[in-house]
Amino acid sequence: MTNEELWQTVLGEIELSLSKASFTTWFKNTAIQEIDDNKVIIVVPNIFAKEWLEKKYKKLILDSIQKHFPKVVSFGCIVGTAQVVPEKELETNKNPHHLKRKVSKKPLYKIQQSTGFRTNLNSKYSFENLVISSNNDLAYAACSSVATSPGDNYNPLFIYGGVGLGKTHLLQATGNQIFQENPAFLVRYISMERFANELVGAIQNKKIKEFKNKYIDLDLLILDDIQFLAGKEKTQEEFFHIFESLYQHGKQIILSSDRPPKSIPTLEDRLRSRFEGGMIADVNKPNLETRVAIINKKLEEKNTTVNEDIINYLAEKIHHNVRELEGALNKIIVTSQLKNKETTLKEVIELTKDIISTSHQNELSPEKILSSVADFYSIKTDEISGRCRKKKVIKPRQVAIYLLRKDVKLSFPDIGETIGGRDHSTAIYAYEKIKKELEKNELLKDQLNFIREKFVDY
Ligand code: ADP
Ligand code: MG
Repeated sequence: MTNEELWQTVLGEIELSLSKASFTTWFKNTAIQEIDDNKVIIVVPNIFAKEWLEKKYKKLILDSIQKHFPKVVSFGCIVGTAQVVPEKELETNKNPHHLKRKVSKKPLYKIQQSTGFRTNLNSKYSFENLVISSNNDLAYAACSSVATSPGDNYNPLFIYGGVGLGKTHLLQATGNQIFQENPAFLVRYISMERFANELVGAIQNKKIKEFKNKYIDLDLLILDDIQFLAGKEKTQEEFFHIFESLYQHGKQIILSSDRPPKSIPTLEDRLRSRFEGGMIADVNKPNLETRVAIINKKLEEKNTTVNEDIINYLAEKIHHNVRELEGALNKIIVTSQLKNKETTLKEVIELTKDIISTSHQNELSPEKILSSVADFYSIKTDEISGRCRKKKVIKPRQVAIYLLRKDVKLSFPDIGETIGGRDHSTAIYAYEKIKKELEKNELLKDQLNFIREKFVDY
């Protein structure tokens, strides 16, 4: 059995015990470099695959190898290009594990055009300084697979999750790696809010064609926080055409949102189905252990230390938003530097009082419900209790009434009072209407659950 045959057999076995996504992500472009007595050396395309294979899939790989080579007791990975077959053969080899890494064939003029072109990438975000744990490992796996072969596997890649949980970090890190490995790529990172503003500007200045061209030319488009598409018909329309063009040319698109596609209200069906046709991965809140690891990573980056009691205190108390955790940590570091002495736990408790009290607002209040509902439907809180009778406002109003009854258990007269001094019969009507609709409308059910997550979760 040659090394290649052995590896193909091992891959065949491993493939059976993993999901397709995990398998492609971690085993594409791998090969056995050599087998020396009792150790196998595997070539993998990047450091992430190395870590993953050596840590997470160690037993799986070793067990499989040992079936054929019982003498082998260990294996190690090295980063490199799997070059077991001469290049020519590789190109005709249909085996997906041997696909050659894509080489950018971009004509020079494009690179020149790109002078002064802004990628908006921020080099401070990388995969190395991201802590990977069960809350984000799927999203990370998908991003790292996209980074290895943009446009190939997961297009579009859609990452979603709550505020401050590392979505932008993941997107930027992916962009940075792709740009590093493909310097000729036209890459652009932009938030949906800015994209929409740029579009408005382009319309006003009659430069819509230039605007579109700028995006259609890209090799990689990263759009952050696309929940801002909700209710923006014109932006959705233009974005759809750009999306189609990029997609059809095999250009990678990466999107993020605070919610899954189905929970973005008023998103055109054609966009929703495009988003759902790619890879969707979520990021969740990190557990305590991971929060400690994140703090340590940040300290390492800043080349500083903080007392362990303080680390544990922060990790325990700030649990739903890594940005706040980082903010609190920075506050402590700066204070220590200013005073030129270590901050005590007592001082830390005082310093982080505000952040921690807002993290702990457990009780459901009518205000919280109204603002969550308004937020979800991209309208103003006032509009829910206002007099407007447009469809765009009526639905959110009814949903708010339903939740006030169901979750806060307000009486119907109190609900009427809360929603702009309406009669209790209005509240009853709305409540019954939503209740009925929920029996048959799965989408509405998901949307309600999403709104609920925002206020019950912490
Ligand atoms: P989001 O875009 O989801 O709101 P960000 O990507 O802006 O969140 O993350 C907020 C901050 O938390 C950033 O500074 C980011 O580096 C940090 N962060 C979030 N998750 C992690 C993680 N797993 N490891 C390291 N830093 C993280
Ligand atoms: Mg973000």
